[in-house]
Amino acid sequence: MALRFFNSLTRSKELFQPLVPGQAGLYTCGPTVYNYAHIGNFRTFVFEDLLRRALTFRGYRVTQVMNFTDVDDKTIRGSQAAGESLEVFTARYKQAFFEDLDTLRVQRAEVYPAATEHVGEMVELIRRLRERGHTYEDAGSVYFRLSTFPGYGRLANLNPEQMRSSGRVDNDEYEKEDVRDFALWKAWIPEDGPVFWETELGKGRPGWHIECSAMSMKYLGEQFDIHTGGVDNRFPHHENEIAQSCCATGGPFAGTWLHSEFLLVEGKKMSKSLGNFYTLRDLLEKGLDPVAIRYTLLSVHYRAQLNFSFEGIEASAQAVRRLRDLNGRLGRSPAGPGSGDKVWQLTAACETDFTEALDDDLNLAGALGHLFTWVREVNALLDSGSPDAGELERLQAWLNRVDSLLDVLREEQDESAEGRVAELVAQRAAAKQSRDFPAADRLRLEIESLGWVVKDTPQGPVFHRR
Ligand code: AMP
Ligand code: ZN
Repeated sequence: MALRFFNSLTRSKELFQPLVPGQAGLYTCGPTVYNYAHIGNFRTFVFEDLLRRALTFRGYRVTQVMNFTDVDDKTIRGSQAAGESLEVFTARYKQAFFEDLDTLRVQRAEVYPAATEHVGEMVELIRRLRERGHTYEDAGSVYFRLSTFPGYGRLANLNPEQMRSSGRVDNDEYEKEDVRDFALWKAWIPEDGPVFWETELGKGRPGWHIECSAMSMKYLGEQFDIHTGGVDNRFPHHENEIAQSCCATGGPFAGTWLHSEFLLVEGKKMSKSLGNFYTLRDLLEKGLDPVAIRYTLLSVHYRAQLNFSFEGIEASAQAVRRLRDLNGRLGRSPAGPGSGDKVWQLTAACETDFTEALDDDLNLAGALGHLFTWVREVNALLDSGSPDAGELERLQAWLNRVDSLLDVLREEQDESAEGRVAELVAQRAAAKQSRDFPAADRLRLEIESLGWVVKDTPQGPVFHRR
């Protein structure tokens, strides 16, 4: 286990050393659910999927938490414009987000806490900050006093010039280099309509930053391993999270911070405010293959900017086809006399080079270079018909292992796949009923190999896509 990450906090590559050996706690800032996420957002979420899968690939048990920002200015205004309650309005976009994650084959996090369901925890955290002298109140709102945290600005690398607070702000998303005391709790204003909580802090709602501190600590502990987001989250959002969390606990917060670069359109950040965005649904309507979109987002290093283009997606579609072709060939090829030690040698070399690149701050682009060299060599061996049964198995096993990261080999999910899995789930239930546990285990493995997961509940088994 030798993963190294570029830690935004120290601006250097560091060996990943989790708090508990073999386990990784991961907090990934989630979507603001006032609209469909655009594929710039999905670049960040697919990067986090790669991170999660790379940790698993290297043997870690991952606990990932991703929040839903379901109360802020944008969600409140959006719900008012739609004439819906905040709950109904945001529920639609939460649901759409999960559908899009499935389309892009992003693995589910362990927990998706919603801000509106954790206001109690946020109030508690603000109370701790108040007790330690880090807050002040004005007109019913509670602000964080930046001057009480000397470590402020470390993550965003602000220089001392920039470090003088220029007042205070109620807006959650202020400009870079504009250092301000920020709102932890916002007093109710008539524009918020029915959206408020009556708490010991008064009538109002939480600020944006406090939600991630409260929910990460609740599910991962006061100190945890990795915190991620897009580069625009680094300041002020993550800087503020660190200030609040460290001041509330008196100890450290997340050890490693990873930030993914922007997806660009014609040289500009893809964003809702610039109007230069595509949602995933826009692209599917144009007939693009979601697996090629996934591959495109994965194939450029996460700390490099990625220019969105239709040509880029077509190139990815070709790469996916080459991998699927090889997969199909391995399944169909008859066993030959054996390649000597060629299969073992070139596969072991690919494994070493691929894993080294991945370990080096998730350099999947480099790793894919090694993979495609291997694909070429394997195709040549298959042309000559030499690999024997054991060698074919070895090749297939490595391709499957790589696909545990990429998840591109499965062909489009069709209805018949679901029917087949339902059948296997029923057979497994029958095997368990007759206490044939080895058969039940085998069936579970078969279900998982098709990309599905089965879980037993008091109401009987349920199954869903991985
Ligand atoms: P939001 O829903 O605005 O809170 O954003 C969700 C995530 O998407 C955050 O981690 C952002 O940093 C990230 N993000 C927003 N725009 C882009 C972009 N153009 N490229 C990559 N990530 C982005
Ligand atoms: Zn956050």
